[in-house]
Amino acid sequence: MATDSIHKVIIIGSGPAGLTAALYAGRSNMNPLVFEGPQPGGQLTITTEVENYPGFQNGIMGPELMDVMRKQAQKFGADCQFKMVDEVDFSKRPFRLVVEGKEYFSHTVIVATGASAKLLNLPSESDYMGYGVSACATCDGFFFKNQHVVVVGGGDTAMEEATYLTKHAARVTVVHRRNELRASKVMIERAQKNPKIDFIWDSVVTEVVGETNALGHKKATGVKIKNVKTNKVTDFKCDGLFLAIGHQPNTKLFEGKLDMDSVGYLITKPHSTATNVPGVFAAGDVADSVYRQAVSAAGTGCMAAIDAERFLAHEGHD
Ligand code: NAP
Repeated sequence: MATDSIHKVIIIGSGPAGLTAALYAGRSNMNPLVFEGPQPGGQLTITTEVENYPGFQNGIMGPELMDVMRKQAQKFGADCQFKMVDEVDFSKRPFRLVVEGKEYFSHTVIVATGASAKLLNLPSESDYMGYGVSACATCDGFFFKNQHVVVVGGGDTAMEEATYLTKHAARVTVVHRRNELRASKVMIERAQKNPKIDFIWDSVVTEVVGETNALGHKKATGVKIKNVKTNKVTDFKCDGLFLAIGHQPNTKLFEGKLDMDSVGYLITKPHSTATNVPGVFAAGDVADSVYRQAVSAAGTGCMAAIDAERFLAHEGHD
């Protein structure tokens, strides 16, 4: 195989980690090829205002931040392609990736595939997904104007989603499995001060209930809520259910190929983005079960590009 058909670096994923890696790799003349995955821009594209990304005194909308990041990386030669990687072979070098039926080869790979929203895994939840059930308030909140929705979860995402949903819905009920929220103080205060938000404690949603009209359109009309202390199940009328119970790393593609923890987060060497395969690096939420912030993802994206560049130099591929 001709060496010039082998990429110096391929980046899988296009959230803050992938695009920061692309920016740094681009500025190092590595001509990064970025496979953007199913959600170009990553999780920030389904959020509203980002108030905690440094450099934006008045905050910035998530989709706009990602658009700017992509353009900044492209300015330095990143080739961003809206494609999904179907298969990777890290067993020999150059590494081989299969993307929509075509083979690509690369001396290094940066994995920045992020994480996705977790679901409750109830059969009725998948039945009504898109028909009243959602995992993204900013995507679907608009459809619940003046209605009543339930949000499941007690973390920052749940508080953020509940607060955002009050822009559209008349009432938002947060259902949490404990009687104490995990979210940060500022987010809790914001949600608790909001007169449209109420809380149901020590409870879980066990079923989504709905109906199908004469035209065959189905729609959620309520949920069953179980109190975990008394085991009492209550029928609760509502128009929508939003899941905000955390995230799962997107690592299915790497099972058996890269070391991961019991949840599926990729394991990297201390103070490095190196995985167990020399030449394969991991950045962002895919390897971070602790911080999971846009800025920490961007930081590790920068580290991964520097690690890849040093790896190439060490191997003599300049
Ligand atoms: P999280 O902190 O892991 O919280 C998940 C919540 O869902 C917890 O309250 C958990 O309950 C509950 N939960 C998990 N599985 C459940 C299940 N099967 N059934 C019912 N409830 C379940 O996740 P997150 O809220 O998505 O936040 C993730 C990270 O992103 C955090 O570090 C957070 O600070 C950060 N974040 C920051 C912002 C911001 O600053 N603007 C916004 C969103 C997220 P327990 O509490 O009982 O475990």
